[in-house]
Amino acid sequence: MKFNELGLSDDLLKAVTTAGYEEATPIQAETIPMVLDGQDVIGQAQTGTGKTAAFALPILEKIDKSNQNVQALVVSPTRELAIQTQEEIYKLGRNERANVQVVYGGADIRRQIKALKNHPQVVVGTPGRLLDHIRRHTLKLDHVQMLVLDEADEMLNMGFLDDIEDIIKQLPEERQTMLFSATMPPEIKRVGVQFMKDPKHVKIKAKELTTDLIDQFYVRSRDFEKFDVMTRFFDVQSPDLTIVFTRTKRRVDEISSGLQARGYNAAGIHGDLTQKRRTQIMNQFRHGQLDILVATDVAARGIDIDDVTHVYNYDIPQDPDSYVHRVGRTGRAGKHGVSMTFVTPNEMDYLREIEKLTKVRMLPLKPPSDEEALVSQLGAAKDTVVDLINKTDTEKFAKVAESLLAEYDAEDLVAALLNDVTKDNSSQVPVKITPERPLPRRGGKRHGNGGGYHRGGNGGGNNHRGGGNFRHRQDRRGGSDSRNHDSRNHGGNGSRHSNGNGGRRSDGGSHGFTIRKKD
Ligand code: ADP
Ligand code: MG
Repeated sequence: MKFNELGLSDDLLKAVTTAGYEEATPIQAETIPMVLDGQDVIGQAQTGTGKTAAFALPILEKIDKSNQNVQALVVSPTRELAIQTQEEIYKLGRNERANVQVVYGGADIRRQIKALKNHPQVVVGTPGRLLDHIRRHTLKLDHVQMLVLDEADEMLNMGFLDDIEDIIKQLPEERQTMLFSATMPPEIKRVGVQFMKDPKHVKIKAKELTTDLIDQFYVRSRDFEKFDVMTRFFDVQSPDLTIVFTRTKRRVDEISSGLQARGYNAAGIHGDLTQKRRTQIMNQFRHGQLDILVATDVAARGIDIDDVTHVYNYDIPQDPDSYVHRVGRTGRAGKHGVSMTFVTPNEMDYLREIEKLTKVRMLPLKPPSDEEALVSQLGAAKDTVVDLINKTDTEKFAKVAESLLAEYDAEDLVAALLNDVTKDNSSQVPVKITPERPLPRRGGKRHGNGGGYHRGGNGGGNNHRGGGNFRHRQDRRGGSDSRNHDSRNHGGNGSRHSNGNGGRRSDGGSHGFTIRKKD
Protein backbone atom coordinates (compact mmCIF):
# COMPACT_ATOMS: atom_id res chain seq x y z
CA MET A 1 0.00 0.00 0.00
CA LYS A 2 1.16 3.52 -0.77
CA PHE A 3 1.96 5.78 2.16
CA ASN A 4 -0.16 8.59 0.77
CA GLU A 5 -3.30 6.53 1.23
CA LEU A 6 -2.83 6.38 4.97
CA GLY A 7 -3.82 9.87 6.00
CA LEU A 8 -0.39 11.30 6.76
CA SER A 9 0.63 14.92 6.29
CA ASP A 10 2.84 16.09 3.42
CA ASP A 11 5.76 16.72 5.74
CA LEU A 12 5.67 13.14 6.91
CA LEU A 13 5.23 11.77 3.41
CA LYS A 14 8.31 13.70 2.39
CA ALA A 15 10.26 12.25 5.29
CA VAL A 16 9.11 8.77 4.34
CA THR A 17 10.36 9.32 0.80
CA THR A 18 13.65 10.69 2.07
CA ALA A 19 14.01 7.59 4.20
CA GLY A 20 13.66 5.62 0.98
CA TYR A 21 10.43 3.86 1.89
CA GLU A 22 8.32 3.33 -1.18
CA GLU A 23 5.46 1.27 0.11
CA ALA A 24 4.03 0.81 3.55
CA THR A 25 4.66 -2.63 5.00
CA PRO A 26 1.55 -4.63 5.95
CA ILE A 27 1.80 -3.79 9.65
CA GLN A 28 2.18 -0.12 8.76
CA ALA A 29 -0.70 -0.14 6.32
CA GLU A 30 -3.01 -1.68 8.90
CA THR A 31 -2.04 0.06 12.09
CA ILE A 32 -1.27 3.62 10.98
CA PRO A 33 -4.90 4.51 10.17
CA MET A 34 -6.08 2.95 13.44
CA VAL A 35 -3.58 4.89 15.51
CA LEU A 36 -4.43 8.09 13.66
CA ASP A 37 -8.02 7.35 14.51
CA GLY A 38 -7.17 7.29 18.20
CA GLN A 39 -7.64 3.59 18.82
CA ASP A 40 -5.57 1.38 21.10
CA VAL A 41 -3.67 -1.09 18.96
CA ILE A 42 -1.80 -4.31 19.49
CA GLY A 43 0.46 -4.85 16.51
CA GLN A 44 2.07 -8.19 15.97
CA ALA A 45 4.48 -8.75 13.13
CA GLN A 46 7.81 -10.35 12.56
CA THR A 47 11.06 -8.61 13.33
CA GLY A 48 12.18 -6.30 10.57
CA THR A 49 8.75 -5.46 9.23
CA GLY A 50 8.81 -1.78 10.10
CA LYS A 51 6.92 -1.69 13.37
CA THR A 52 8.84 1.40 14.46
CA ALA A 53 7.50 3.58 11.67
CA ALA A 54 4.08 2.02 12.25
CA PHE A 55 3.83 3.91 15.51
CA ALA A 56 6.36 6.70 14.81
CA LEU A 57 4.44 8.14 11.87
CA PRO A 58 1.03 8.49 13.52
CA ILE A 59 2.65 9.77 16.72
CA LEU A 60 4.45 12.44 14.73
CA GLU A 61 1.21 13.27 13.00
CA LYS A 62 -0.65 13.65 16.26
CA ILE A 63 1.72 15.48 18.56
CA ASP A 64 1.37 19.22 18.88
CA LYS A 65 4.71 20.68 17.92
CA SER A 66 3.96 23.97 19.63
CA ASN A 67 3.31 22.17 22.90
CA GLN A 68 6.42 21.67 25.03
CA ASN A 69 5.19 18.77 27.12
CA VAL A 70 6.12 15.15 26.66
CA GLN A 71 3.18 13.88 24.65
CA ALA A 72 4.35 10.45 23.59
CA LEU A 73 6.36 7.88 25.50
CA VAL A 74 7.98 4.85 23.90
CA VAL A 75 9.24 2.09 26.18
CA SER A 76 11.92 -0.08 24.65
CA PRO A 77 13.68 -3.16 26.05
CA THR A 78 17.31 -2.36 25.36
CA ARG A 79 19.60 0.56 25.00
CA GLU A 80 20.37 -0.28 21.38
CA LEU A 81 16.72 -0.50 20.46
CA ALA A 82 15.90 2.67 22.31
CA ILE A 83 18.61 4.53 20.42
CA GLN A 84 17.54 3.12 17.07
CA THR A 85 13.94 3.96 17.73
CA GLN A 86 14.80 7.51 18.73
CA GLU A 87 16.82 7.86 15.54
CA GLU A 88 14.00 6.58 13.38
CA ILE A 89 11.43 8.87 14.99
CA TYR A 90 13.82 11.78 14.74
CA LYS A 91 14.50 11.02 11.09
CA LEU A 92 10.83 10.79 10.22
CA GLY A 93 9.98 13.88 12.26
CA ARG A 94 12.78 16.08 11.08
CA ASN A 95 10.70 18.13 8.65
CA GLU A 96 8.32 18.99 11.42
CA ARG A 97 11.11 19.68 13.87
CA ALA A 98 9.78 17.25 16.41
CA ASN A 99 11.97 17.02 19.48
CA VAL A 100 12.69 13.39 20.34
CA GLN A 101 14.95 12.37 23.21
CA VAL A 102 16.20 9.01 24.39
CA VAL A 103 17.17 7.81 27.87
CA TYR A 104 18.76 4.50 28.81
CA GLY A 105 20.81 2.94 31.55
CA GLY A 106 24.56 2.78 31.67
CA ALA A 107 25.00 6.31 30.42
CA ASP A 108 25.56 9.62 32.16
CA ILE A 109 22.25 10.57 33.68
CA ARG A 110 23.06 14.27 33.94
CA ARG A 111 23.32 14.61 30.21
CA GLN A 112 19.96 12.93 29.86
CA ILE A 113 18.47 15.26 32.45
CA LYS A 114 19.69 18.16 30.39
CA ALA A 115 18.24 16.64 27.25
CA LEU A 116 14.90 16.17 28.98
CA LYS A 117 14.91 19.84 29.93
CA ASN A 118 14.91 20.61 26.23
CA HIS A 119 11.17 19.96 26.09
CA PRO A 120 11.00 16.83 23.99
CA GLN A 121 7.54 15.97 22.70
CA VAL A 122 8.53 12.33 22.35
CA VAL A 123 10.68 10.39 24.81
CA VAL A 124 12.05 6.91 24.13
CA GLY A 125 13.57 4.98 26.99
CA THR A 126 14.39 1.69 28.65
CA PRO A 127 12.21 0.83 31.64
CA GLY A 128 14.78 1.11 34.44
CA ARG A 129 16.13 4.44 33.34
CA LEU A 130 12.68 5.84 32.70
CA LEU A 131 11.72 4.99 36.28
CA ASP A 132 14.91 6.60 37.46
CA HIS A 133 13.99 9.84 35.76
CA ILE A 134 10.44 9.64 37.00
CA ARG A 135 11.66 9.26 40.59
CA ARG A 136 14.06 12.15 40.21
CA HIS A 137 11.24 14.22 38.76
CA THR A 138 13.35 14.87 35.70
CA LEU A 139 10.71 13.35 33.46
CA LYS A 140 7.12 14.50 33.73
CA LEU A 141 4.57 12.30 32.15
CA ASP A 142 1.29 13.94 33.10
CA HIS A 143 0.69 15.21 29.58
CA VAL A 144 1.44 11.97 27.80
CA GLN A 145 -1.33 11.14 25.37
CA MET A 146 0.30 8.21 23.62
CA LEU A 147 2.19 5.29 25.11
CA VAL A 148 4.02 2.68 23.07
CA LEU A 149 5.23 -0.60 24.56
CA ASP A 150 7.65 -1.68 21.86
CA GLU A 151 9.11 -5.16 21.49
CA ALA A 152 6.78 -6.24 24.26
CA ASP A 153 7.80 -9.90 24.12
CA GLU A 154 11.40 -8.91 24.64
CA MET A 155 10.51 -6.73 27.60
CA LEU A 156 8.61 -9.62 29.09
CA ASN A 157 11.58 -11.95 28.55
CA MET A 158 13.83 -9.52 30.28
CA GLY A 159 11.63 -9.29 33.33
CA PHE A 160 10.49 -5.72 32.79
CA LEU A 161 6.81 -6.30 33.39
CA ASP A 162 6.77 -4.78 36.90
CA ASP A 163 8.75 -1.77 35.78
CA ILE A 164 6.33 -1.21 32.97
CA GLU A 165 3.40 -1.30 35.33
CA ASP A 166 5.13 1.25 37.52
CA ILE A 167 5.65 3.50 34.53
CA ILE A 168 2.08 3.16 33.38
CA LYS A 169 0.88 4.28 36.81
CA GLN A 170 2.50 7.63 36.14
CA LEU A 171 0.56 8.21 32.97
CA PRO A 172 -2.82 9.86 32.56
CA GLU A 173 -5.71 7.40 32.35
CA GLU A 174 -6.94 9.27 29.35
CA ARG A 175 -4.42 8.18 26.74
CA GLN A 176 -3.87 6.01 23.72
CA THR A 177 -1.81 2.87 24.20
CA MET A 178 -0.04 0.86 21.53
CA LEU A 179 1.76 -2.39 21.98
CA PHE A 180 4.08 -3.89 19.38
CA SER A 181 5.61 -7.31 19.50
CA ALA A 182 6.92 -10.04 17.24
CA THR A 183 5.14 -12.70 19.25
CA MET A 184 2.14 -12.65 21.54
CA PRO A 185 2.54 -14.89 24.59
CA PRO A 186 -0.44 -14.88 26.97
CA GLU A 187 1.25 -12.58 29.48
CA ILE A 188 1.41 -9.89 26.87
CA LYS A 189 -2.21 -10.26 25.94
CA ARG A 190 -2.91 -9.79 29.62
CA VAL A 191 -1.01 -6.50 29.58
CA GLY A 192 -3.22 -5.53 26.69
CA VAL A 193 -6.37 -6.32 28.60
CA GLN A 194 -5.16 -4.59 31.74
CA PHE A 195 -3.74 -1.40 30.36
CA MET A 196 -5.49 -0.83 27.08
CA LYS A 197 -8.96 0.22 26.08
CA ASP A 198 -10.63 -2.17 23.73
CA PRO A 199 -7.44 -2.71 21.75
CA LYS A 200 -7.62 -3.69 18.11
CA HIS A 201 -5.38 -6.63 17.45
CA VAL A 202 -3.51 -6.57 14.15
CA LYS A 203 -1.59 -9.67 13.34
CA ILE A 204 0.48 -10.10 10.23
CA LYS A 205 0.60 -13.81 9.81
CA ALA A 206 3.83 -15.71 10.08
CA LYS A 207 3.52 -17.35 6.71
CA GLU A 208 3.56 -14.03 4.98
CA LEU A 209 6.86 -13.40 6.63
CA THR A 210 8.83 -16.03 4.84
CA THR A 211 10.24 -14.26 1.96
CA ASP A 212 10.79 -16.10 -1.25
CA LEU A 213 13.77 -13.91 -1.89
CA ILE A 214 15.88 -16.24 0.21
CA ASP A 215 17.28 -19.53 -1.07
CA GLN A 216 17.36 -21.79 1.94
CA PHE A 217 19.78 -24.70 2.01
CA TYR A 218 20.90 -27.19 4.57
CA VAL A 219 24.06 -29.21 4.84
CA ARG A 220 24.29 -32.42 6.80
CA SER A 221 27.54 -32.37 8.60
CA ARG A 222 29.03 -33.70 11.79
CA ASP A 223 29.92 -31.10 14.34
CA PHE A 224 33.69 -31.39 13.98
CA GLU A 225 33.50 -31.04 10.20
CA LYS A 226 31.45 -27.90 10.13
CA PHE A 227 34.25 -25.40 10.16
CA ASP A 228 36.11 -26.80 7.18
CA VAL A 229 32.90 -27.36 5.28
CA MET A 230 31.78 -23.83 5.94
CA THR A 231 35.01 -22.25 4.75
CA ARG A 232 34.83 -24.35 1.62
CA PHE A 233 31.37 -22.99 1.02
CA PHE A 234 32.74 -19.52 1.52
CA ASP A 235 35.22 -20.17 -1.23
CA VAL A 236 32.62 -21.56 -3.57
CA GLN A 237 29.78 -19.18 -2.86
CA SER A 238 31.98 -16.14 -2.33
CA PRO A 239 29.44 -14.47 -0.10
CA ASP A 240 29.60 -10.76 0.11
CA LEU A 241 28.31 -9.66 3.49
CA THR A 242 27.83 -12.67 5.72
CA ILE A 243 26.54 -13.46 9.19
CA VAL A 244 27.47 -16.72 10.87
CA PHE A 245 25.21 -17.70 13.76
CA THR A 246 26.40 -19.98 16.49
CA ARG A 247 24.86 -21.28 19.65
CA THR A 248 27.43 -20.15 22.19
CA LYS A 249 29.78 -17.30 22.89
CA ARG A 250 32.75 -19.61 22.99
CA ARG A 251 31.96 -20.63 19.46
CA VAL A 252 31.71 -17.05 18.37
CA ASP A 253 35.25 -16.50 19.64
CA GLU A 254 36.66 -19.70 18.23
CA ILE A 255 35.05 -19.38 14.84
CA SER A 256 35.95 -15.76 14.35
CA SER A 257 39.59 -16.36 15.25
CA GLY A 258 39.61 -19.49 13.12
CA LEU A 259 38.32 -17.52 10.16
CA GLN A 260 40.89 -14.80 10.71
CA ALA A 261 43.61 -17.43 10.84
CA ARG A 262 42.50 -18.62 7.43
CA GLY A 263 42.66 -15.17 6.00
CA TYR A 264 39.02 -14.16 6.13
CA ASN A 265 38.00 -10.72 7.16
CA ALA A 266 35.85 -11.78 10.11
CA ALA A 267 34.94 -10.65 13.61
CA GLY A 268 32.59 -11.88 16.31
CA ILE A 269 30.10 -10.20 18.60
CA HIS A 270 28.49 -11.48 21.74
CA GLY A 271 27.25 -10.21 25.04
CA ASP A 272 30.61 -10.33 26.81
CA LEU A 273 32.11 -7.63 24.63
CA THR A 274 31.78 -4.05 25.75
CA GLN A 275 29.10 -2.02 24.11
CA LYS A 276 31.77 0.13 22.56
CA ARG A 277 33.50 -2.80 20.95
CA ARG A 278 30.25 -4.22 19.63
CA THR A 279 29.27 -0.92 18.12
CA GLN A 280 32.67 -0.67 16.52
CA ILE A 281 32.41 -4.10 14.95
CA MET A 282 28.84 -3.47 13.82
CA ASN A 283 29.88 -0.27 12.13
CA GLN A 284 32.73 -1.96 10.33
CA PHE A 285 30.33 -4.62 9.12
CA ARG A 286 27.82 -2.03 8.05
CA HIS A 287 30.39 -0.18 6.03
CA GLY A 288 31.72 -3.29 4.38
CA GLN A 289 35.07 -3.16 6.15
CA LEU A 290 34.28 -6.55 7.54
CA ASP A 291 33.02 -9.43 5.39
CA ILE A 292 31.91 -11.93 7.99
CA LEU A 293 30.20 -11.29 11.28
CA VAL A 294 29.98 -14.18 13.72
CA ALA A 295 27.26 -13.77 16.33
CA THR A 296 24.97 -15.35 18.87
CA ASP A 297 21.25 -14.79 18.43
CA VAL A 298 21.12 -12.34 21.27
CA ALA A 299 24.02 -10.24 20.09
CA ALA A 300 22.64 -10.19 16.58
CA ARG A 301 19.37 -8.63 17.53
CA GLY A 302 20.70 -5.15 16.99
CA ILE A 303 21.75 -5.94 13.48
CA ASP A 304 19.89 -4.10 10.84
CA ILE A 305 21.69 -4.10 7.58
CA ASP A 306 20.05 -4.45 4.24
CA ASP A 307 22.87 -5.88 2.23
CA VAL A 308 23.56 -9.15 4.03
CA THR A 309 23.92 -11.69 1.23
CA HIS A 310 24.41 -14.89 3.22
CA VAL A 311 23.37 -16.24 6.58
CA TYR A 312 25.17 -19.36 7.80
CA ASN A 313 23.62 -21.21 10.70
CA TYR A 314 26.75 -22.88 11.99
CA ASP A 315 24.51 -24.38 14.64
CA ILE A 316 20.88 -25.01 13.86
CA PRO A 317 18.70 -23.04 16.27
CA GLN A 318 16.62 -25.01 18.70
CA ASP A 319 13.69 -22.71 18.36
CA PRO A 320 12.15 -22.40 14.88
CA ASP A 321 11.32 -18.75 15.53
CA SER A 322 14.96 -17.91 15.97
CA TYR A 323 15.61 -19.49 12.61
CA VAL A 324 13.21 -17.03 11.07
CA HIS A 325 14.91 -14.19 12.92
CA ARG A 326 18.33 -15.25 11.81
CA VAL A 327 17.54 -15.92 8.21
CA GLY A 328 15.46 -12.76 8.01
CA ARG A 329 18.73 -10.83 8.13
CA THR A 330 19.14 -11.50 4.47
CA GLY A 331 16.75 -11.14 1.57
CA ARG A 332 15.82 -7.71 2.84
CA ALA A 333 14.72 -4.63 1.02
CA GLY A 334 13.92 -6.57 -2.11
CA LYS A 335 17.35 -8.12 -2.40
CA HIS A 336 18.16 -11.74 -2.90
CA GLY A 337 19.69 -13.78 -0.08
CA VAL A 338 21.03 -17.22 0.70
CA SER A 339 20.84 -19.15 3.94
CA MET A 340 22.83 -22.23 4.82
CA THR A 341 22.02 -24.32 7.85
CA PHE A 342 24.37 -26.95 9.21
CA VAL A 343 22.60 -29.92 10.68
CA THR A 344 24.19 -32.84 12.50
CA PRO A 345 22.51 -36.16 11.79
CA ASN A 346 20.79 -36.04 15.22
CA GLU A 347 19.30 -32.68 14.57
CA MET A 348 17.26 -33.46 11.48
CA ASP A 349 14.02 -33.23 13.46
CA TYR A 350 14.80 -29.64 14.28
CA LEU A 351 15.18 -28.94 10.61
CA ARG A 352 11.76 -30.41 9.89
CA GLU A 353 10.29 -28.36 12.70
CA ILE A 354 11.65 -25.21 11.11
CA GLU A 355 10.29 -26.22 7.74
CA LYS A 356 6.89 -26.69 9.30
CA LEU A 357 6.93 -23.13 10.52
CA THR A 358 8.33 -21.52 7.40
CA LYS A 359 6.41 -23.78 5.04
CA VAL A 360 9.47 -23.89 2.86
CA ARG A 361 11.57 -26.97 2.23
CA MET A 362 15.25 -26.39 2.56
CA LEU A 363 17.31 -27.89 -0.22
CA PRO A 364 20.14 -30.22 0.74
CA LEU A 365 23.62 -29.25 -0.38
CA LYS A 366 26.71 -31.40 -0.41
CA PRO A 367 29.94 -29.94 0.89
CA PRO A 368 32.08 -28.81 -2.03
CA SER A 369 35.05 -31.03 -2.83
CA ASP A 370 38.64 -29.79 -2.54
CA GLU A 371 38.79 -29.40 -6.30
CA GLU A 372 35.60 -27.38 -6.43
CA ALA A 373 36.92 -25.18 -3.68
CA LEU A 374 40.19 -24.70 -5.54
CA VAL A 375 38.43 -23.85 -8.77
CA SER A 376 36.49 -21.16 -6.95
CA GLN A 377 39.55 -19.87 -5.20
CA LEU A 378 41.30 -19.56 -8.52
CA GLY A 379 38.30 -17.80 -9.99
CA ALA A 380 38.45 -15.32 -7.14
CA ALA A 381 42.19 -14.98 -7.60
CA LYS A 382 41.64 -14.17 -11.23
CA ASP A 383 39.23 -11.41 -10.29
CA THR A 384 41.77 -10.05 -7.87
CA VAL A 385 44.42 -10.01 -10.59
CA VAL A 386 42.08 -8.20 -12.96
CA ASP A 387 41.46 -5.62 -10.24
CA LEU A 388 45.18 -5.27 -9.71
CA ILE A 389 45.77 -4.73 -13.42
CA ASN A 390 43.15 -2.03 -13.49
CA LYS A 391 44.66 -0.12 -10.67
CA THR A 392 48.28 -0.54 -11.65
CA ASP A 393 50.18 2.18 -13.42
CA THR A 394 52.04 -0.09 -15.85
CA GLU A 395 54.57 2.49 -16.89
CA LYS A 396 55.93 2.66 -13.40
CA PHE A 397 56.81 -1.02 -13.44
CA ALA A 398 57.61 -1.42 -17.15
CA LYS A 399 61.36 -1.74 -16.78
CA VAL A 400 61.35 -4.49 -14.18
CA ALA A 401 58.47 -6.17 -15.99
CA GLU A 402 60.51 -6.34 -19.16
CA SER A 403 63.50 -7.78 -17.43
CA LEU A 404 61.36 -10.42 -15.71
CA LEU A 405 59.77 -11.31 -19.04
CA ALA A 406 63.18 -11.65 -20.60
CA GLU A 407 64.14 -14.07 -17.90
CA TYR A 408 60.91 -16.06 -17.29
CA ASP A 409 57.96 -17.45 -19.15
CA ALA A 410 54.92 -15.18 -19.02
CA GLU A 411 52.91 -18.17 -17.81
CA ASP A 412 55.22 -18.78 -14.87
CA LEU A 413 55.05 -15.16 -13.91
CA VAL A 414 51.27 -15.11 -13.92
CA ALA A 415 51.13 -18.41 -12.05
CA ALA A 416 53.34 -16.94 -9.34
CA LEU A 417 51.08 -13.94 -9.09
CA LEU A 418 48.01 -16.17 -8.84
CA ASN A 419 49.69 -18.25 -6.19
CA ASP A 420 50.27 -15.14 -4.20
CA VAL A 421 46.71 -13.85 -4.32
CA THR A 422 44.99 -17.21 -3.86
CA LYS A 423 43.64 -17.90 -0.42
CA ASP A 424 44.55 -21.54 -0.81
CA ASN A 425 47.72 -21.45 1.27
CA SER A 426 46.16 -20.06 4.36
CA SER A 427 43.17 -22.34 4.14
CA GLN A 428 45.48 -25.12 5.22
CA VAL A 429 45.73 -23.59 8.68
CA PRO A 430 44.14 -26.19 10.92
CA VAL A 431 41.30 -24.87 13.05
CA LYS A 432 39.72 -26.82 15.83
CA ILE A 433 36.39 -25.77 17.27
CA THR A 434 35.57 -27.10 20.72
CA PRO A 435 32.71 -29.57 20.45
CA GLU A 436 29.36 -28.54 21.85
CA ARG A 437 26.76 -30.97 22.92
CA PRO A 438 24.30 -31.38 20.05
CA LEU A 439 20.68 -30.48 20.59
CA PRO A 440 18.77 -33.19 22.43
CA ARG A 441 16.76 -35.43 20.23
CA ARG A 442 13.31 -34.17 19.64
CA GLY A 443 10.23 -36.11 20.47
CA GLY A 444 9.39 -37.70 23.78
CA LYS A 445 10.34 -35.81 26.85
CA ARG A 446 13.03 -33.41 26.01
CA HIS A 447 15.05 -30.53 27.35
CA GLY A 448 13.77 -29.44 30.72
CA ASN A 449 12.50 -25.98 30.00
CA GLY A 450 12.81 -26.16 26.28
CA GLY A 451 9.12 -26.35 25.70
CA GLY A 452 8.61 -23.12 27.54
CA TYR A 453 8.69 -19.72 26.15
CA HIS A 454 12.17 -18.56 25.40
CA ARG A 455 12.12 -16.84 22.13
CA GLY A 456 14.80 -14.44 21.37
CA GLY A 457 17.06 -16.31 23.68
CA ASN A 458 19.90 -18.23 22.49
CA GLY A 459 17.90 -20.82 20.78
CA GLY A 460 17.48 -21.72 24.27
CA GLY A 461 17.19 -24.66 26.55
CA ASN A 462 19.52 -25.73 29.22
CA ASN A 463 21.93 -27.49 27.07
CA HIS A 464 24.41 -25.03 25.83
CA ARG A 465 27.10 -25.09 28.34
CA GLY A 466 29.03 -22.15 27.14
CA GLY A 467 25.96 -20.12 26.42
CA GLY A 468 26.23 -17.40 28.94
CA ASN A 469 23.57 -15.40 27.21
CA PHE A 470 20.97 -17.67 28.55
CA ARG A 471 22.31 -17.40 32.04
CA HIS A 472 22.32 -13.69 31.66
CA ARG A 473 18.69 -13.58 30.97
CA GLN A 474 17.89 -15.76 33.89
CA ASP A 475 19.82 -13.41 36.13
CA ARG A 476 18.08 -10.46 34.83
CA ARG A 477 14.72 -11.88 35.27
CA GLY A 478 15.50 -12.52 38.89
CA GLY A 479 16.82 -9.05 39.51
CA SER A 480 14.59 -6.63 41.28
CA ASP A 481 16.53 -3.44 41.10
CA SER A 482 15.34 -1.82 38.00
CA ARG A 483 18.42 0.22 37.41
CA ASN A 484 20.28 -2.94 37.38
CA HIS A 485 18.05 -4.13 34.62
CA ASP A 486 19.08 -1.41 32.37
CA SER A 487 22.72 -1.43 32.95
CA ARG A 488 23.05 -5.14 32.73
CA ASN A 489 21.03 -5.19 29.77
CA HIS A 490 23.23 -2.78 28.09
CA GLY A 491 26.33 -4.58 29.05
CA GLY A 492 25.19 -7.99 28.30
CA ASN A 493 22.96 -8.10 25.40
CA GLY A 494 22.31 -6.84 22.01
CA SER A 495 19.05 -5.37 21.14
CA ARG A 496 16.80 -7.01 18.70
CA HIS A 497 16.82 -6.22 15.07
CA SER A 498 15.46 -3.06 13.97
CA ASN A 499 17.14 0.02 13.33
CA GLY A 500 16.77 3.37 12.92
CA ASN A 501 18.82 4.21 10.50
CA GLY A 502 21.88 5.86 11.17
CA GLY A 503 24.52 3.87 9.62
CA ARG A 504 22.30 1.83 7.46
CA ARG A 505 23.73 1.64 4.02
CA SER A 506 21.63 3.98 2.15
CA ASP A 507 22.04 3.07 -1.38
CA GLY A 508 19.13 4.68 -3.07
CA GLY A 509 17.08 2.55 -5.28
CA SER A 510 16.87 -0.59 -3.25
CA HIS A 511 13.86 0.01 -1.16
CA GLY A 512 11.32 -2.47 -2.32
CA PHE A 513 10.71 -3.90 1.13
CA THR A 514 8.32 -6.33 -0.34
CA ILE A 515 7.10 -8.90 2.02
CA ARG A 516 5.91 -11.41 -0.46
CA LYS A 517 3.61 -14.25 0.22
CA LYS A 518 4.81 -17.72 -0.49
CA ASP A 519 1.88 -18.61 -2.67
P1 ADP B 1 10.59 -4.10 13.46
O1 ADP B 1 10.45 -3.15 14.63
O2 ADP B 1 9.29 -4.57 12.92
O3 ADP B 1 11.50 -5.22 13.76
P2 ADP B 1 11.92 -1.86 12.17
O4 ADP B 1 10.93 -0.83 12.48
O5 ADP B 1 13.14 -1.87 13.01
O6 ADP B 1 11.27 -3.31 12.24
O7 ADP B 1 12.27 -1.76 10.63
C1 ADP B 1 13.18 -2.62 9.99
C2 ADP B 1 13.87 -1.91 8.85
O8 ADP B 1 12.96 -1.63 7.80
C3 ADP B 1 14.46 -0.57 9.23
O9 ADP B 1 15.69 -0.44 8.58
C4 ADP B 1 13.49 0.45 8.68
O10 ADP B 1 14.12 1.67 8.42
C5 ADP B 1 13.03 -0.26 7.44
N1 ADP B 1 11.67 0.11 6.99
C6 ADP B 1 10.61 0.39 7.77
N2 ADP B 1 9.52 0.64 7.03
C7 ADP B 1 9.89 0.50 5.75
C8 ADP B 1 9.20 0.64 4.49
N3 ADP B 1 7.91 0.94 4.44
N4 ADP B 1 9.91 0.43 3.36
C9 ADP B 1 11.24 0.10 3.43
N5 ADP B 1 11.94 -0.03 4.58
C10 ADP B 1 11.28 0.15 5.72
MG1 MG C 1 10.89 -2.93 16.49
